[in-house]
Amino acid sequence: TFESAVSFDEFKLNSDGLIPCITQHYKTGEVLMMAYMNKESFEKTIATGRMTYYSRSRQELWTKGETSGHFQFLKSLKLDCDKDTLLAEVSQIGAACHTGSPTCFFTDLVKKEYDNTNPLKVFEEEYDIIVDRRNHPKEGSYTNYLFDKGIDKILKKVGEEATEIVIAAKNPDSDEIKYEISDFLYHLMVLMVERGVSWTDITKELADRR
Ligand code: AMP
Ligand code: ZN
Ligand code: ZN
Ligand code: ZN
Repeated sequence: TFESAVSFDEFKLNSDGLIPCITQHYKTGEVLMMAYMNKESFEKTIATGRMTYYSRSRQELWTKGETSGHFQFLKSLKLDCDKDTLLAEVSQIGAACHTGSPTCFFTDLVKKEYDNTNPLKVFEEEYDIIVDRRNHPKEGSYTNYLFDKGIDKILKKVGEEATEIVIAAKNPDSDEIKYEISDFLYHLMVLMVERGVSWTDITKELADRR
């Protein structure tokens, strides 16, 4: 199904004649696992579109998922600057790790606390919390209050918050616009959940327009 721009013979192999391959989720970039390839596994991966490695412990060709069903479908394959490491982007069925974990990299060794404010990550998480509230109503939840009142109440709030952005934008020296945009986006996400529109629907639409 694929054709490689560089042949395996041009790779810089380790002393066992293998090249490491880092495999990541094609949508999120999450690093899933690392395994080795020999020439045969590389060529099988290219030919079939299913990630096939070389198992050093079993000393045999290993198509990821052959026993677990957790196959990896190749989306892209890259070679690094000095030709000694491969980077694969895949669509992963089930868990990448044989322990059942989504990624093999679940053991923290060093960790500095930081806020992940990646916009889409924060939006996705907030969206998921709103979906969870709708499915499992919580006592005193404002989100549940909105869902209970229904679509007209949600639309009224979206309109009000949009107006408040306009007012805040005319106020030059204030944080007000940040708060109002946040309020607007929250209510917009309640509307999105109510109408079954996901962030991927939106980002796909925007990407298609470029
Ligand atoms: P699978 O390829 O998922 O059908 O698993 C077959 C065997 O490969 C497992 O029993 C493990 O020994 C090994 N294996 C699977 N996934 C991994 C992984 N991410 N890292 C290392 N070994 C693995
Ligand atoms: Zn480099
Ligand atoms: Zn390298
Ligand atoms: Zn693992």
